Amino acid sequence: MPLTSVFTGGTMVMQSVSTKELDGLRGETMTDELKASLQAALRGPVVAPGDADYDSVRALYNGMIDKRPRLMARCVDAADVIAAVNFGREQGLLIAIRGGGHNGPGLGSCDDGLMIDLSLMKSVRVDRADRSVRVDPGCTSGDVDHATHSFGLAVPFGIVSTTGVAGLTLGGGTGYLTRKYGLTVDNLLEADVVLADGTLVTASPSQYADLFWALRGGGGNFGVVTSFLFQAHPVATVYAGPIFWDATHARAVMAAYRDYLPEAPEELGIFVGLKTVPSMDPFPREGWGKRACAIIGAYNGPAGDGEKAMAPILQNVPEPIFNWMSEIPFPAMQGLFDPFFPKGLQWYWKGDFVASLPDEAIATHIEQAAQAPSELSLMHLYPIDGAVQRVPRDATAWSTRDARWSMVIAGIDPDPAKAQALKDWGRAYWQAVHPFNLPGGYVNFLMDDEAEGRVPATYGGNYQRLAAVKAKYDPHNLFRVNQNIPPAL
Ligand SMILES: Cc1cc2nc3c(=O)[nH]c(=O)nc-3n(C[C@H](O)[C@H](O)[C@H](O)COP(=O)(O)OP(=O)(O)OC[C@H]3O[C@@H](n4cnc5c(N)ncnc54)[C@H](O)[C@@H]3O)c2cc1C
Repeated sequence: MPLTSVFTGGTMVMQSVSTKELDGLRGETMTDELKASLQAALRGPVVAPGDADYDSVRALYNGMIDKRPRLMARCVDAADVIAAVNFGREQGLLIAIRGGGHNGPGLGSCDDGLMIDLSLMKSVRVDRADRSVRVDPGCTSGDVDHATHSFGLAVPFGIVSTTGVAGLTLGGGTGYLTRKYGLTVDNLLEADVVLADGTLVTASPSQYADLFWALRGGGGNFGVVTSFLFQAHPVATVYAGPIFWDATHARAVMAAYRDYLPEAPEELGIFVGLKTVPSMDPFPREGWGKRACAIIGAYNGPAGDGEKAMAPILQNVPEPIFNWMSEIPFPAMQGLFDPFFPKGLQWYWKGDFVASLPDEAIATHIEQAAQAPSELSLMHLYPIDGAVQRVPRDATAWSTRDARWSMVIAGIDPDPAKAQALKDWGRAYWQAVHPFNLPGGYVNFLMDDEAEGRVPATYGGNYQRLAAVKAKYDPHNLFRVNQNIPPAL
């Protein structure tokens, strides 16, 4: 144990301090200095280890991920973001960008680096004249739905209202409105971005067009988006809700869904899933805990038209356990899953793009889903046909314009002791079905233990172009806590 001199109350004393303790003291002093220096440049608060709110601020949506940033810059405006980016770069800190904090592998945070936390930036402004919506990067999709619904409008986002708009958009964005209006990125009109050198630019089809192309699917690789401008569409009430069948009918339901989807009106945004009937009210008690096949979705239009749109599936399958499709406000449908998925559950994700669903693949899905280690664990197949397929493959960084579905397998449970079982199930399920699927998977549904090989496959022919845009705007890979696209050499 080395002897060292420490100042206490102005008196120099000789004291035994272990090397570890000494490192700790040095680390704390350095962090204090860094914190004070960053705080001087920011209007929003800077949070560091030891602060009372450190644990609550750093907590991520996925309880399986526990990261401890050295500093968290809780930005309140673009000027704060510029200051934080410049500070992180100059101090050589690892930088993570957090929007809604929903990312599966927790890529909104990092260990021992600087988290640029945007969650306090929450303004939404709807322009009724051209149906555009300006959105701050800390908004959840529920924040935006709330604002747009008053004007009978909605932007296509995902199916859980607590998901961050920023990460969801930059990865692509799929949800109930996708078949009719495209991915979230297909509805992005413009974005303000703080680049690695600290400059703020506005990317759109007419300015920084290469950057705008890359932002539409390329994730958080290119800079910190401080403002999004979206195109919204007329959406008020929808004919929507879940329909559950006993798992013994899964084969018939999945086949009927598969066969009908290409003919179904694009107003009908429905996905099929293999799940368990939740053991809680208002679900019928006799079904609690039973394996099930579900069709969940929304028809954007009058209830009568929605019923007609659903009829071709329903007349070809057995009676469901329940059918709760009815006319409801769109935000109510967007919040349908929220009570089942509070912050802090254990999540393990696997994703794939799917072009076709042969009977053999359906049989494999049913076999694997039956092994689910928990009631919440699920497989969903989200449709990405219709409007998505009409956009050329090279028009945006999101290149998979030929798939019909984006598949997610998610092992989910509140109990941390189940973490390994969730991972084992997700991996085994994915191994079994992947041979039926395309090589890539939606970047927002990948964990980071598999990203290296899969990111290039996901972007396919667009990957080299993305690497070139990265080299132009972030040549030193400052923004690398993401599904990373290293700069082209
Ligand atoms: C319960 C649940 C349901 C989901 N449902 C859907 C769905 O229906 N459809 C769908 O498409 N996806 C869905 N997702 C996946 C979701 O799109 C991703 O988890 C996404 O990363 C969430 O974005 P976030 O801002 O909340 O994440 P964060 O963890 O905050 O950020 C994720 C990544 O995005 C980048 N990022 C965030 N903000 C910015 C910014 N302002 N500028 C630059 N980069 C930034 C960062 O690189 C970060 O690594 C769901 C996720 C969950 C947990």
